[in-house]
Amino acid sequence: MYHGIDTQAIFNCVAASHFREQLSWLKEHYSIVPLSVLVDAIQFPSPANKMSNLASITFDDCYVNFAELALPILQEYKMHATTFLPTGKVGYYNDWDEGMSGFHKMGIMSYDMLRQLPEQAVEVGSHGIAHVPLDRLSHDEIEKEIVQSRAEIEQNIGRPVRFFAFPFGVYPFKYRLRLREGENDSLGGYRAACTTWWGRYNTIKDIHVLRRVTICDFDTLDDFKDKLYGYYDWLVMKESVGRYYKVMRATF
Ligand SMILES: [Zn+2]
Repeated sequence: MYHGIDTQAIFNCVAASHFREQLSWLKEHYSIVPLSVLVDAIQFPSPANKMSNLASITFDDCYVNFAELALPILQEYKMHATTFLPTGKVGYYNDWDEGMSGFHKMGIMSYDMLRQLPEQAVEVGSHGIAHVPLDRLSHDEIEKEIVQSRAEIEQNIGRPVRFFAFPFGVYPFKYRLRLREGENDSLGGYRAACTTWWGRYNTIKDIHVLRRVTICDFDTLDDFKDKLYGYYDWLVMKESVGRYYKVMRATF
């Protein structure tokens, strides 16, 4: 999971030179596939669909710097990425980060820019509308964030929207969301959704709450490798305990 790429490491942007090094390392160690291929492998595991070295690259927030700096490097390595758009912020900037230490103002792509993203290299997913934590909203408001954002992106860029990323990675535990088509209480027909919960592995149970590995601006190449070798996998257990108490508080 990335956010932005800049010429130097700043706020939540990885330096372009580091990003290139990271992709070069990934190319040696993983098959980088579109998120849809990864989700297929999770949902329909088979020997031909071996999960062991599959990985996907995601970028939250659809920053202009994705198109300007990340995309050319991804294309150099022939890699695919999914980027998640908060539709209420199209053409605006990351105002939700204001006040955070080291805040760096970053423009969000316009629909014109989004339409120009090469389809074989980039998939656009939804990141809701207002970029707010969904656990602060009512069920109706959450439904609007999830359903309307998808419809708006599809209308404006003319491509199907299949994936959702929870703003701030926050999952609203009060409600058992159903994001997939055909399920009761369907919220808009997404194939899968991403959190910011730590994790290198996902199973079929995680389809609506996919774990990711956060790549930070200050990561050295060794830090990056450590994250992918599993040195931080203890976070999975630590965060699971935290979530257990959150669920208890939300449901009782
Ligand atoms: Zn975001």
